Amino acid sequence: MNPMAPRAAEPVRAASLLADGDPPPVQVLGAGARSPWLLIADHAGQAVPARLDRLGLPQHELDRHIGWDIGIAGVTTDLARRLDACAILQAYSRLVIDCNRPLDAPGSIVVRSDGTDIPGNAALDAGAREGRIREIFAPYHARIEAELDRRARERRPTILVAMHSFTPEMSGIARPWHAGVLYQRDARLAHALRDLLCADGDLVVGDNQPYAVSDASDYAIPVHAERRGLPHVELEIRQDLIADAAGQQAWAERLARLFGALQDRFASP
Ligand SMILES: [Zn+2]
Repeated sequence: MNPMAPRAAEPVRAASLLADGDPPPVQVLGAGARSPWLLIADHAGQAVPARLDRLGLPQHELDRHIGWDIGIAGVTTDLARRLDACAILQAYSRLVIDCNRPLDAPGSIVVRSDGTDIPGNAALDAGAREGRIREIFAPYHARIEAELDRRARERRPTILVAMHSFTPEMSGIARPWHAGVLYQRDARLAHALRDLLCADGDLVVGDNQPYAVSDASDYAIPVHAERRGLPHVELEIRQDLIADAAGQQAWAERLARLFGALQDRFASP
């Protein structure tokens, strides 16, 4: 063998975004759980890949509502346990790539959020954008799809709840709602949950407030729930109510109770 012969070309490997020490993009709790409820939390985490150097932001900016949905990971984790349900959570900050925005939406990778410039997102080239899609957005949604496909094959019912939280004040305006139910084409579960929440203490419940679901601004509900015809709701809880463990547990307890009251009505294969 001629030692000088050229070696076979090594396969070209795209530069990887995630490195050893970065968390996996998808966290699955209660895999295989039997409950019809499936919880997803697109904005549960605030991790930033080490290679992106906190996107050039101080930690306190990532700790704000622009970095993640404050409190929702705790509520979702506790609620999944109480329901014996599966929950799928995204570990990375919405500022790296927003997993509830269509990839062509302006909000997919933002250069500014609630008054804060995001240096690590300025002048992104196509390769950098592609890496965030490939390693963070795609595996998260693929895992949700795999879970839904498996349940459909097994003829198991699924009720999909997209868990979110919202900041109590935006642009100097206080938001009166304790929680909001969001939907687009199918309000059945949203309105049923709204009615139960309104009857549960003195809660002020937004009906498509503080946001509404739309194909232009949302990914998870249109793609995973509406296209499959699954009963669903996007639930928003105000962040000051779930900022600590006691608040998170109280909301998980409340939601587990109300979901239990709705389950038979919405859980058909
Ligand atoms: Zn959110």
